[in-house]
Amino acid sequence: MRTEPILVVHGGAWAMPDSVVDDHQRGVQKALEAGWSVLASGGSALKAVEEAVVVMEDDETFDAAKGSFLTRDGRVQMDALIMDGATLRAGGVGCVEHLRNPVRAARLVLSESPHVYFVAEGAERFAAEHGMKLIDNSELVIPRERERLAIAQAKAAAGEHDLTFAGSGHDTVGAIALDVNGHLAAATSTGGTLNKAPGRVGDSSLIGCGCYADDQSAAVSCTGWGEPMMKLVLGKWAADRVQTGAAPEMAAREAIGYLSSRLNGHGGMILLDSRGRYGIAHNTPRMAWGMRHREGSYLGIEIES
Ligand code: ASP
Repeated sequence: MRTEPILVVHGGAWAMPDSVVDDHQRGVQKALEAGWSVLASGGSALKAVEEAVVVMEDDETFDAAKGSFLTRDGRVQMDALIMDGATLRAGGVGCVEHLRNPVRAARLVLSESPHVYFVAEGAERFAAEHGMKLIDNSELVIPRERERLAIAQAKAAAGEHDLTFAGSGHDTVGAIALDVNGHLAAATSTGGTLNKAPGRVGDSSLIGCGCYADDQSAAVSCTGWGEPMMKLVLGKWAADRVQTGAAPEMAAREAIGYLSSRLNGHGGMILLDSRGRYGIAHNTPRMAWGMRHREGSYLGIEIES
């Protein structure tokens, strides 16, 4: 039986100022086009989410690949996960440098390795052995982020710590899709949080935290302050609710409500089930997201839902 395909993407959830809204919308739109061209021609949800995320990794607007937030020592260290809801195969990379598209490395882990997750040099070596080019870390660092880091570090030195990261950007990217064969997939990619300690890994690339996909429940991608999301295994928490009967719209809202009430966390989530029903929720002032299906597309950077 053929299913109507659908794609949902996000480009972060935070207090986006008006000055960055257009760039986020443009980036989300391009990601939708890339992923949709895969789905519309009968391609897999897995391929669609990979292509959608690559577009946003290549766009410096977002905190993924080039243009990522910097670690406290001024480097880019990235995390990415991709997961296939049909088979539960997954590929993750954590704390990687030197890669232009970490989600491509994650995809290689999924398809070419008996393992599920690689970190740091081992992940980079695996990617290189499978044909990916390793680049200099400085190619991923842009002036905007050097400046942002300097400001964050000056504030920290002055004792102005924002331990919730609520005021800073959460520009992680993600995509979830349902293909014509009724299969779900999800991918999330990030440079993590600003001024993070070297070696820190967030929720984005951890299965069930910032990304998850299972045809029997839902596909999900999150963005936001990673530590609370990891503690709550938030992606799986929401997918489980869908499996036990909640509509994705309700499950996403409940998940973000749980994140707020249990740990005062901040962020957003996109969620999709194998009937093509989706949910978007965030407790940040704005979230960049977009949806595409056969009848058209919708772009949303709306004020708090
Ligand atoms: N969740 C990501 C992390 O904590 C950050 C983000 O969503 O922007 O690494």
